[in-house]
Amino acid sequence: MHFSFYPYQLKFRFPFVIAHGTRTHTEVVYVKVEYQGLTGWGEAALPPYLNETQETVLMFLNRYASAVTDMSLDEATAFTQQTAEKNYPAMAALDMALWDIKLLQNGTSIHVGSSEILNKPLNTYTIGVCNAKEMNLKVDEALANGFKLFKLKLNGIDDERMVNDFRLITSLPFAVDANQSWADVSVAKEKAHWLKENGCIFIEQPFAQEELDKSAVLTQENILPVYADESCQTISDLGNLKDAFSGINIKLMKCGGITPALEMITKARQLNLKILLGCMSESTVGCRAAAHLAPLVDYTDLDGPFLISNDCFIGLKMENGSVKTDKLQQRNNLRAS
Ligand code: MG
Repeated sequence: MHFSFYPYQLKFRFPFVIAHGTRTHTEVVYVKVEYQGLTGWGEAALPPYLNETQETVLMFLNRYASAVTDMSLDEATAFTQQTAEKNYPAMAALDMALWDIKLLQNGTSIHVGSSEILNKPLNTYTIGVCNAKEMNLKVDEALANGFKLFKLKLNGIDDERMVNDFRLITSLPFAVDANQSWADVSVAKEKAHWLKENGCIFIEQPFAQEELDKSAVLTQENILPVYADESCQTISDLGNLKDAFSGINIKLMKCGGITPALEMITKARQLNLKILLGCMSESTVGCRAAAHLAPLVDYTDLDGPFLISNDCFIGLKMENGSVKTDKLQQRNNLRAS
């Protein structure tokens, strides 16, 4: 088993504005694994929110990838997840590269062996906080790419204007992601009713990540489903969330890859939680890896490749409003670290 690592900077097509701030780019590290004539790819995406950098990811990768070179794929996968040191984006990149090889070996590309009834969940296109003109451009791009569901980022200030601007452009359904920007539960209840009347289908992370009591009140009102994102990082969070939220947003970058995401899906279903499968604006490699799990969840938010102007890969497309994995192909050369 041979590994190579490639730091890279993804550029957003439009500056990405959310309640926490504005981003124009995302640092990533691609992982290539070569094994018995096959090549697998993984990606660690590093928005500031994750507190990891290309340097910390490369340190982790250099340490642990060299330790697994003589192992089988399954042994390497288990070893990667059991390291005492946790660097979730780096673990995710290694895990998905190993899964990429396993799926190539099995000649299968989807749903990783589950016998459950398979969904084709709608994939959301995320629109950051923006003015009406920019929203027009973004909605046009999303429609041209085949999206049928949107996710509007809210900041607690421009919420009504964002929704009204969106409604002037399209009657398609949307969800909202407040990114912890709401403070008052009574205001949130009124807002939830208004959003529902306007075609909203769920609310993501309305309150601060530790304010589970506020989320519990809003969830129990049963106005709209409420999903945890910042409040839900790994499987160990799920027990605390079951009464505070209707669902969770699983991201490979938060939990450490496909292997732990599968465990989270099983546990979330046992707890009767709905599942959104999201991303950290990673490119095709990361979103395509997550898309293998799409048939097991209620919605996906795997729009990263559609928000980026310099993706080095192709291999994920839209079909009837859902994501569909395709053969992964590299289209630009990368420089190894
Ligand atoms: Mg979110």
